[in-house]
Amino acid sequence: MTGTHPLTGTIPWRLGFLCGLLAGCLCAAGGLHADEPKSQSPLGGGGQGDLEYKVEWSPGQERLAAIEVNTGRWRSVGPVIKGVKFTLEDGQGKRREDKIGPCDGEWEKAFEVAKEQSLIGISGRHGAVLDSVRFHFSDGKTSPRYGGSGGDHEYRLLLKGQAGQFQGQVRGFHAKALSNALTGIGLLLSGSDGQPAVLLTDDPAAGFSVTVRGAIDEEIAPIAGQLTTLFYQCYPALVERFENPKKPAARHITLTFKRNLSVPAYCTGAEISINVDWLKRRPDDLGLLTHELTHVVQAYPVSNPSWLIEGIADYARHRYGPKVQPGWQLPQRLTARQSYRNSYGVAARFLLWLETKHPKVIDQVHSRMQNREFSIEDFKTLTGKTVDELWQECVKDLNQ
Ligand SMILES: [Zn+2]
Repeated sequence: MTGTHPLTGTIPWRLGFLCGLLAGCLCAAGGLHADEPKSQSPLGGGGQGDLEYKVEWSPGQERLAAIEVNTGRWRSVGPVIKGVKFTLEDGQGKRREDKIGPCDGEWEKAFEVAKEQSLIGISGRHGAVLDSVRFHFSDGKTSPRYGGSGGDHEYRLLLKGQAGQFQGQVRGFHAKALSNALTGIGLLLSGSDGQPAVLLTDDPAAGFSVTVRGAIDEEIAPIAGQLTTLFYQCYPALVERFENPKKPAARHITLTFKRNLSVPAYCTGAEISINVDWLKRRPDDLGLLTHELTHVVQAYPVSNPSWLIEGIADYARHRYGPKVQPGWQLPQRLTARQSYRNSYGVAARFLLWLETKHPKVIDQVHSRMQNREFSIEDFKTLTGKTVDELWQECVKDLNQ
């Protein structure tokens, strides 16, 4: 690696430490040089509004030590992202803070970045404003997902690379905002080894793939094609929302078409088995894939109430499945004769109602299940009411 110094011309990086003796030099002791090609990513989000923000650091001299996200309601929707505060630490452990966005909401719990982790990008969802954001790191782990579950569009800005080697570095953020919400967020990048940084691309499906195999005849082939299309539409969104920050979800999924199954479909790890005979009778039932893909991402390490697991899978089918699902929908009314324990669609309808009262609760119980922490008392802790009290309230609302 070489770098051009304004005073001395090109010097080998091993001599970089000498630069420290020269006033105004930006060389880092580690050999990272300030003149790596700089660039910035496009914005994730529409970027409306006049307010512009920038936070910048020098990758060789400072590291990102903590991230705090500011969230709150915007108009009647929410929570949305109102700002982000970055804590930067220099080689001596001295910290400084800088932020983007109006930050007029509430601060979420700070996310500490480990010394060996480096930031490689962000992802989330947006509509008119930024609905959610998640931070991705070089070790494959992510921050929790901050914000709400809204946003019709997905953004994904990640450095290209694998096995911990990435083509460039993140050196900051640029953002646009309205007076009370972020509307777009992007990365400031620097290259490495003299080459510009390369993003994976802003295509949400980048990095995901699917293999289709098994009993595919002429009748099933077009349905298999539709399921493949659906995979690329819904799986990135499911991963974005439900992935375990500590244990990345599979990026490659296998769909195996089988005869003589007793159920329409089931999932084992990253393989989904699909009942060919069922699909021949119900060729419109594509949403079963969204349901099974949700199970792939759930990957709960211990047993949890099955009504809640299946309820979340059908809730996800409703939210992220095909827009039109002939022959399938969540019940519009619920009655006292039913119970959330009826699971599937009934539990999903309950969760959908619950989300309107407590926007974060689905994600909270989901993440507690992934962390082996869930108990049914969590509903009371998170909402102030037991699950049975919530159900009764839900029936009251939906039994009209
Ligand atoms: Zn299921």
